[in-house]
Amino acid sequence: MTLQACAPKSQEDCGFVQNVYGERISWKSDVPVTMYLHADVPDSMVQAILSAAETWDRTVGRKIFNIVTYPRVTGPVNPHQDGKNIIYFMKTWEANRTSEQGRTSVYWVGDLIKEADIRLNAADFGYYWRSQTLSAAAKSDRANLPPVNVEALVLHEMGHVLGLKHKDNGGSVMATYLASGDDRVSLANTDETALRCEY
Ligand SMILES: [Zn+2]
Repeated sequence: MTLQACAPKSQEDCGFVQNVYGERISWKSDVPVTMYLHADVPDSMVQAILSAAETWDRTVGRKIFNIVTYPRVTGPVNPHQDGKNIIYFMKTWEANRTSEQGRTSVYWVGDLIKEADIRLNAADFGYYWRSQTLSAAAKSDRANLPPVNVEALVLHEMGHVLGLKHKDNGGSVMATYLASGDDRVSLANTDETALRCEY
């Protein structure tokens, strides 16, 4: 079939999400990725977010994230495809997904990522950074649960922004679940190896 003859060659996944042709999706040379913060993200979390971005920069060996801390994105908390990469602090979350600490939506064309938005679940989880409590879960019945390290969560979600998928071995920051109290703020060797396939 002509269509098959025109399809690009499938690639090793290298830890990346792949498109329907089996090609890794990433930003390719279109970095640094500029990310904005919604106005609802607490000021006390900005340093943790910057620290997570720097960890990716350091590992790649060049600037891969450009975090715009000012001005903030104002308006409704309504993540959607709008041409801007935004980190949202969500005080409401789907009732049937309460175990989900965060979520990253990635939009791509061909094998090139065009936009990614991060949602932090502030409804069901409280957050801390470097032994300081930053926020409590918005839902009162969740307020007494142990908090999550926000730098560790953002580090993981930023991996999704770069195109990485979940990896539950090798101590990867892309492990599906982050336990409360787990200070997983450094990348593992397996994460470095994965990055080198695309960045
Ligand atoms: Zn994830």
